[in-house]
Amino acid sequence: MGVNMPIIETLGPQARYAMPAPQARRAPSRFPILPMPVLEWNPDVERETAHLYERIKNVVPSVEWPFFAPYVSAINRLKKERNAVILAHNYQTPEIFHCVADVVGDSLQLAREAAKVKADVIVQCGVHFMAETAKILNPDKVVLIPDMKAGCSLAESITGEDVRLLRERFPGVPVVTYVNTSAEVKAESDICCTSGNAVQVVESLGVDKVIFLPDQYLASYVASQSKVKIIAWKGSCEVHERFTGDELRRLRESDPSVQIIAHPECPPDVIAASDYTGSTSGMISYVREHQPKRVVLVTECSMADNVSAELPNVEFVRPCNLCPHMKRITLPKILDSLVYMQEEVWVDPAIAAKARRAVERMVNLKS
Ligand code: SF4
Repeated sequence: MGVNMPIIETLGPQARYAMPAPQARRAPSRFPILPMPVLEWNPDVERETAHLYERIKNVVPSVEWPFFAPYVSAINRLKKERNAVILAHNYQTPEIFHCVADVVGDSLQLAREAAKVKADVIVQCGVHFMAETAKILNPDKVVLIPDMKAGCSLAESITGEDVRLLRERFPGVPVVTYVNTSAEVKAESDICCTSGNAVQVVESLGVDKVIFLPDQYLASYVASQSKVKIIAWKGSCEVHERFTGDELRRLRESDPSVQIIAHPECPPDVIAASDYTGSTSGMISYVREHQPKRVVLVTECSMADNVSAELPNVEFVRPCNLCPHMKRITLPKILDSLVYMQEEVWVDPAIAAKARRAVERMVNLKS
């Protein structure tokens, strides 16, 4: 634990929570529209998908599988036909996360893998800023998002113009930007970070003060772990800001042995009431390593389902907050993406080039 330093200033509006839908683009003409597969639950589909249902049988009731399985089967076939890969964030539902995704992880893992992808098409099962990051790192590939309206309250809380004004107000102070931002905001930044590497990124700059955008709670967490002074922005995640220290203290009173693990986008009293704080992949590693009898994952609800599918002996207590943006991504929409090659994510090449510098600087940091 570092020396507890205060945030020296927090600026900006509260997050607005309403992501305007970015402009959809037409499917690239070099990819013809394919026939919609027949979606039917039959013995062949049951046999072909049985090994996938095994992975999620602890969290998806058998009565639901006949609905999911025909989509899973069709998506996995179309992925090969399109030479596509599916990247899925830890907050995706288990039938996506365990049954159709090729790469799973937190924003940092997805960004790293997106940089290495060998495929013509990337389908991003996550929110829009993640798809933009994949496009920034793969300008020659087609990047699709199954629902263009999958936004993020943090990404919506700040614009490129806000960053330019901050630079005018604090000349010479480097800008560290959480990946949960638009390409335009990344383009105005010196370096990006994720919740998993934010402290490391801030300290890598060798300065005594940084502008840290846009999550005020992640900024507080970084300030508590580092001697670097932080100028923060008033953005927040609409999912994590709903947790309270009181609710966690009540959970601990009812079972003192329970392990509480929180994401650093949570408010400081939630972090203070927790046993461990880390990114989603840090949280997963913690549970895998410690295998506590009962655990509370203080983050988006689907992650507990995804980890619990793998660790049936751990009991997950679920103070459940769902991300409505992540939940826009569904199997039917993923199938539509692959059939119709929609919705294509596009980033202005000049903005992408500047944003790429900030993302690559983070990706290339030695861990
Ligand atoms: S969980 Fe929060 S930070 Fe993540 S996409 Fe949803 S609103 Fe954004």
